[in-house]
Amino acid sequence: MAERPVLLSLRGLHKSFDTQEALNGLDLDVYQGEFLTLLGPSGCGKTTTLRIIAGLEQPTSGRVLLDGQDITALAPEKRAVNTVFQNYALFPHMNVARNVAYGLRMRGAPKSEISARVDEMLELVQLTGYEKRMPGQLSGGQRQRVAIARSLILSPRLLLLDEPLGALDLQLRRQMQQELKRMQQKLGITFIYITHDQEEAMSMSDRIALMRLGRFVQIDAPRDLYERPQTAFAASFIGETNLISGRAEAVKEGEVLLQVAGFSLPCVSRDWIVPGEALLLCVRAERLHLSHEPVPAPCRVAGEIVESHYAGGERTTVVRLPDGQVLRARHTTEGESEPLPGSRVYCWWHPDSGVLVRDDREETP
Ligand code: ATP
Repeated sequence: MAERPVLLSLRGLHKSFDTQEALNGLDLDVYQGEFLTLLGPSGCGKTTTLRIIAGLEQPTSGRVLLDGQDITALAPEKRAVNTVFQNYALFPHMNVARNVAYGLRMRGAPKSEISARVDEMLELVQLTGYEKRMPGQLSGGQRQRVAIARSLILSPRLLLLDEPLGALDLQLRRQMQQELKRMQQKLGITFIYITHDQEEAMSMSDRIALMRLGRFVQIDAPRDLYERPQTAFAASFIGETNLISGRAEAVKEGEVLLQVAGFSLPCVSRDWIVPGEALLLCVRAERLHLSHEPVPAPCRVAGEIVESHYAGGERTTVVRLPDGQVLRARHTTEGESEPLPGSRVYCWWHPDSGVLVRDDREETP
């Protein structure tokens, strides 16, 4: 992505509502043709960021640049930016074709051009033949596709989507995810997308900007965010993870020995780690393996099974370490002998599956 030109930049963006700080200094470059998702807990500032980019809200300080031009003070309709909301209100008294045509009609485009573009857009969202239907005669997914066609007809450089699939049921949502991604790639339009659905963010985005308390915590490709979280918050927000508390014993040549409940575990070091420091080791639940026999793995701890939950093809087993820490392992049930509460078990993982992270769990604005 980095070789593409930058389309949108946020520089030192702050936003306060009365005494409340909603955005706390955002810096971001979004590349042309990129699919970037804003992800984070409720109230972290995702919608406010999108509204500022759209021009519907003014930042308290900072700048928004589109193609290097400062558009911070530009009216929304003068920006080559369009927005699709979760409950995008179609005009109920206009049929599908007129809804889609609306933006071009307002611009005074010639009738022949409008008609050709409406056909093109309806084909893109796979609603050819629905021109005469009224919004009330469409399903939720079809309405949302009309809303998307209506936003795309003006060929925006940038499309902002605030939970566009949030109102759809799971099956339709999964189908629309694929369709949206296909459209985005076909048109090469830059998308900035908000979702609460981690799986949606993971499967659709080129990069995810993880937000918390009005700041970006980490901006990375989905895989890097999952495999190499920078902080405990990033590790625990996505997927099911263990955060194992330990202390750095010795740091040398890219490796640190972590002391955990009497075990000494070799971990890949990070440049900010100093000996003696209290650390958290992130190991995903599906990367934590269990064995009743001692295994010759360097990253191995032993504990007692507390409980185990069967859930069809997989199972989650909870293990307590001698120092009271609790770990969760997710594993397939194929050919397993049922883990018995109270029995001793070894938990092990590949050294590359453990990532040392900063503890930012108690951070406040
Ligand atoms: P959600 O996921 O729940 O939609 P969000 O991440 O989109 O949340 P925002 O809607 O951007 O969060 O809100 C960020 C913060 O700013 C919140 O604490 C919210 O209460 C506050 N806020 C947003 N809009 C206003 C407003 N118009 N007046 C006062 N406070 C606001």
